[in-house]
Parts: sequence; structure tokens; C-alpha cells
Amino acid sequence: MASSRIVYLNGEFVPFDQARVPVMDRGFLFADGIYEVSAVIDGRLVDNAAHLARLDRSLSEIGIRNPHAAAEWEGLQTELVARNGVTEGLVYMQVTRGVAERDFAFPARGTPPTVVMFTQAKTVLANPLAETGAKIVTVEDLRWKRRDIKSVALLAQVLAKQAAAEAGVAEAWMVEDGAVTEGSSSTAFIATRDGRLVTRPLSTALLPGITRAAVLQLADEASLRVEERLFSVAEAHAAAEAFYTSASAFVMPVIAIDGRTIGEGRPGPLTRRLRDLYIGMARAA
Ligand code: PMP
Repeated sequence: MASSRIVYLNGEFVPFDQARVPVMDRGFLFADGIYEVSAVIDGRLVDNAAHLARLDRSLSEIGIRNPHAAAEWEGLQTELVARNGVTEGLVYMQVTRGVAERDFAFPARGTPPTVVMFTQAKTVLANPLAETGAKIVTVEDLRWKRRDIKSVALLAQVLAKQAAAEAGVAEAWMVEDGAVTEGSSSTAFIATRDGRLVTRPLSTALLPGITRAAVLQLADEASLRVEERLFSVAEAHAAAEAFYTSASAFVMPVIAIDGRTIGEGRPGPLTRRLRDLYIGMARAA
């Protein structure tokens, strides 16, 4: 990583090596915090207002005051992107309940939240995996019951992604009561043999993906048939197409699930179309 890397910490832009968070930070001790990720392409943030709205909602759900209005956040993000010279990649934001002596209950009112942002340069548009398509595995969903909150408590997702890595694949879809909830860091979609797009409806069982919402809107505008309902692992195995969406993967084709080939074993036409539509939207915005 470049020695010139700059991160944002509690009101200041700081050289990466000098940015320090105290041991008593509640994010470190309790995973008591929220994060958000926005993509950057062509040097610009993608669908950022929706990410900032979700950040605000997640913070509010766990009673952390949002330290910035959306316009302030965007100003800070934009400056951080510029300072790091990122034209393609992502901006990571995290807000924790701050620093206090270790005690489970909330610290005194007025304890300032800890605010961290950093950028990662990354190939988003010309991602080679989007050309070949990704293989994935399914794993048990081990998470808590409020997955609609974008909490930094990501241990179940860490274990899921490690299971994927050990299987030599890119992503793991998590499964509860036989139905796919979502990917470890993405929303899961399948397409049926008669061309219907299927994804799980929003609830506390999954994160309301910002890319999911954009893709559903694009599908609607393209008059595609969409079903928001639960789908089983067996249905995914037998799907004509599958893909997952996230801020950094955009629309990622899936070509194998648990070693079973999906469709023709290459990115399907519906998936390709949605990826193109999404990229068009992201560039135009
Ligand atoms: N589900 C989970 C569990 C995730 O971590 C992510 C990535 N943040 C997503 C879905 C996709 O959400 P988004 O499209 O907003 O990046």
C-alpha cells in the first residue's frame, strides 16, 4: 500500500501509518458499530445517496448518533477519494459507539462516535471474474436476527468467506431453513428457466442491498419478470442463471454452485444484460 495513503479519522485526514484507534474503542471490543461501502468509478461515487441513507438507518437502529449529515459525508468521501487519487475502487466508512471503559451498556451520553474512512483502489468495471463468472458454495447462515443492520459484527461472514476461499471459489451464499438468505457480502439472485428473476424479499433476515434495489429498478424498467420470494438451494442448483450483487462486485455472474454447473457454465444473457444496465446507470448518474 502506498506510503502516501491517507485515511479519515475523527475529523482529520491522517497518513495511514499515523491513524490510531484506542484499545477501548467499542468497535474493537464489542463490534459495536456500523459500516458502509460505496463504489468509485470514473473518480465518482456510485449510488452514494442510497448508501448514506442506509448508514443513517443502521446507526439509528442501534442508537448511535449519525455524526454527519449526508452532504457532509459526501464532502468528506469526495475529498478522501481525491487525496488518495482513486479513480476506481471503493470508500469504506465506519462509525462506532466510541471509546469508553469496557462495559456492555452504552457509555455516557455525549461520548463521541469514532469515525473512520479509507479508500481501496480496485478494478470494478473490468473485473476479470465478471467475464468468466464466479463459482460459489453454500454454507449455513450463522448470523443474528437483525441482518438488515449493516453491523461491523461480521464473524459469520468471515467464516463463510473463508469456507469459500478454502473451496477455491469467490463467494458463499448463506442458507437458513433450506432457503438462501444472501451472499456473505452480496445479494443472491437466480433466473428461472422461463426467464423470471428471483431474489429474497427484504426483511430482518438480510441486508437491504443498495445494488439489489438498483438492479430491481432496472429490471422493472426493462419489463423483466421479477419475483421477490424465498428460493431453496435445490432451486438455485437447477437455475438457468445465477448472480450476486454488491457495491463492489456490481452484478457478478455465478457459473457453479456447490460444484454444480449453472446453465451453460458461463455468464447467462439476463445476467450480462443486467450488468450492462447497471454499469450504464452507474456511469450516467
Ligand atoms: N448482503 C450482505 C451481507 C453484504 O455484506 C452486502 C455488501 N455490503 C450486500 C448484501 C450487498 O449490499 P450492497 O449492494 O449495498 O453493497
